[in-house]
Amino acid sequence: MKAAVLERPGELVIKDREMAVCGDDEILVKVEACNICKTDLKCFSVGQRDLIYPRVLGHEIAGIIVQKGNRAMGYHVGQRVHVHPGIICGKCDYCTDKKDNLCDHVQIMGFNYDGGFQEYLRIPAEGVKGRILNVISNEDLNFEEISFIEPLACCVNIQDSLEMNPSSVMVIIGGGRMGALNLLLAKASGIKRVLLIEENEKRCKSGMKLGFDQVFSGKTEDIIEQIKAATGGMGADVVIPCCPGPGALDLALKILRKNGQLGYFSGVINEDDVRPEINLIHYKEISVKGSYGCSCAHSRKAKALLECGKIDVKPLISHRVRLDELALGMKFVKNSDGYSTIVKF
Ligand SMILES: [Zn+2]
Ligand SMILES: [Zn+2]
Repeated sequence: MKAAVLERPGELVIKDREMAVCGDDEILVKVEACNICKTDLKCFSVGQRDLIYPRVLGHEIAGIIVQKGNRAMGYHVGQRVHVHPGIICGKCDYCTDKKDNLCDHVQIMGFNYDGGFQEYLRIPAEGVKGRILNVISNEDLNFEEISFIEPLACCVNIQDSLEMNPSSVMVIIGGGRMGALNLLLAKASGIKRVLLIEENEKRCKSGMKLGFDQVFSGKTEDIIEQIKAATGGMGADVVIPCCPGPGALDLALKILRKNGQLGYFSGVINEDDVRPEINLIHYKEISVKGSYGCSCAHSRKAKALLECGKIDVKPLISHRVRLDELALGMKFVKNSDGYSTIVKF
């Protein structure tokens, strides 16, 4: 079977590996689609502190069960599944509190275990027991769409932690894949006005098409004034930065109304000279909610939103690549070319 193996940062090799076999408590999934995430790109291009090489990346996985050990209960061969990437301990305080994405002992498919950029994926016994496979019952949902469950579940995590009602004005900074998914989720939850701040002209246009109510770009001072004007002088109720620059965080604090809520969804990684004015959290009594990945429950909710048709991710499918074109796919993601690139098997 073919696997895209990351030997070290920057060195991705397509290898013919021995066919995976599954043990008595395990399940074998034939991967059908795996969405490329910015996290994959980061591991590929600069590496990651805790990543052990060689590793097969890919944690946004859709596939079909092709083999099952005789002690692996609750699943059948032939079922179409989404693979929730987090294998949790099930015992720690976070797990019992349904915050299992924060589990002290979580092991992630595509990071601690080999992931979805290979033809067949072995689901370890702990994963089967932890029910990381979400069976898809809606036949109309294709594998590419199913591969959006994980990133959508990350948006469910942040938005479920915010207090909103239909008249809350939400601003999303950054109109890439995660910004777009946050928009679709907000609209599905009944939020009437979702505004976008985005520099890239192409993304402004596609953002309007996708359903953002207004799009703003330009100089920071101008954007602050425009958002004020668009919200009757108040500022936004909720801001979710979906890009890693500290400038976005600073802008978020400046356009929020007093008592507004910041969804701290995207970690800040780019070092530049902007120092977010964090005292605004104090002066404006801003609430900050962090989110990191998604729990099993978030995945199930995201799956349900796609299955019932409340969210349609088809407009977000921009590029499909074969497994041996994964490096090219990474390039699309790096260049912010389209919304998403999916490895299709
Ligand atoms: Zn991801
Ligand atoms: Zn745990």
